[in-house]
Amino acid sequence: MADSPTDTLHRRGLMFILSSPSGAGKTTIARKLLEEDSQIGLSISATTRPPRPGEVDGRDYHFVSDAEFDRMVAEDEFYEWAHVFGHRYGTPKAHIRTGLKDGQDFLFDIDWQGTQQLAQKDKADVAAVFILPPSIEELHRRLVSRAQDSEAVIEDRMARAKAEISHWGEYDYIVINDDIDACFEEVRGILQAERLKRKRQTGLIDFVRGLMA
Ligand code: 5GP
Repeated sequence: MADSPTDTLHRRGLMFILSSPSGAGKTTIARKLLEEDSQIGLSISATTRPPRPGEVDGRDYHFVSDAEFDRMVAEDEFYEWAHVFGHRYGTPKAHIRTGLKDGQDFLFDIDWQGTQQLAQKDKADVAAVFILPPSIEELHRRLVSRAQDSEAVIEDRMARAKAEISHWGEYDYIVINDDIDACFEEVRGILQAERLKRKRQTGLIDFVRGLMA
């Protein structure tokens, strides 16, 4: 299919935030979006947590020492950072500002604390989506079916999930993940609509001048 004019006009990139309690499906949705949409790239966070099996430094996270994280904070290298589950996580600034100007969109898999900080700094560039589980029983079932964690860890995750859910009111969009494919289509629809916002389409003035000439 040929590009429509709005696909080729210059536009400013956006910071697309996906948050959810663990077990609500955020990781699957994020992965699918990155696979199927060439205009969005992942904002790779730095973290002091050790890598899990299969995680790759520089792809999943920048895994850094406490001392390195301290240095990055001191040198103001983070857009935002927060303590999450006993470790520190932060969004490095490098590339993001210039990327946005060039029309690159970034996907952020960050928690509510990071979302608040980004929204305070650059509200106009942010679209924040919160994914909810269809019920608390279903969330519990999904956490149990991962079979990775002990009952105590699952109970801890459930308590944290409820704390995370209490921040739903700070997000622009809420999607309930009853069915992963339907949920993905909704998230993709939000991304597409956000791209078409007039304020992001910085090439429109010249385009419309051309129409009226
Ligand atoms: P995990 O350790 O399971 O990869 O991530 C734990 C939590 O930290 C997730 O809720 C994730 O969204 C959040 N997180 C990951 N990177 C960042 C970041 O750069 N900033 C903030 N504020 N949260 C993050």
